[in-house]
Amino acid sequence: MRLAVLSDIHANLAALDAVRDDLPKVDEIWVLGDIVGYGPQPNEVIRRLQELGARSVMGNHDGAAIGTVDSAWFNPDAAAAIHWTAGVLDDNARAYLAALPEVRRDGELTAVHGSPREPIWEYITDAAIAADNLGSFETRLCLYGHTHLPVIYRADGPQMLVVAATPQEPITLDASRALINPGSVGQPRDGNPLASYLLLDPEAGHAEFRRVPYEIALTQQLMRDVHLPRWLVERLSIGR
Ligand code: ZN
Repeated sequence: MRLAVLSDIHANLAALDAVRDDLPKVDEIWVLGDIVGYGPQPNEVIRRLQELGARSVMGNHDGAAIGTVDSAWFNPDAAAAIHWTAGVLDDNARAYLAALPEVRRDGELTAVHGSPREPIWEYITDAAIAADNLGSFETRLCLYGHTHLPVIYRADGPQMLVVAATPQEPITLDASRALINPGSVGQPRDGNPLASYLLLDPEAGHAEFRRVPYEIALTQQLMRDVHLPRWLVERLSIGR
């Protein structure tokens, strides 16, 4: 089975469409949450995911936008964007977000937004946290997002090895367990502003991180038009 794994689209339709246009033939598209928040086109992004038949899980911004996740922990810019998002979501988008599971499991794969231990909120930011999460999922591979940083943590005995997410370079996965973050489609934070996603064939052991240019200025103009916070606009240019 060949999968495209997308995460943290954050209502950035131009970035999502660039990824869609970059996709080879895949069997399924999985989305690891934070479909909305920060960006200017939440309803349009959800409709596009519906057209694509994507299978998604819930992120903290998705839950906050419909009031099922507490947004008290959001920083002021994130909270302002969630407030705006909540005000513009249409009925279709609300129903879509409300139906998202926190965990999706299929064959060798578990998919969550934050971590298998705490699917909505935990950030897996280093190998130690990744190792601590190995006991919280039963499948060989766990797909996660939330940090907006593409990386693979591969188990090697009790240790976790970091496999760098070099774009456009095939990676071979052995039988080891691993936690894999595809990076962010709509708000990359690794210093590379291009949209990030992952191609994955779990049975064949093939993975490839992809980076795709998109019309950043278009998304930024739409954000300015609706007065989303300035830093959220500016960070798209620098990928931070
Ligand atoms: Zn996010």
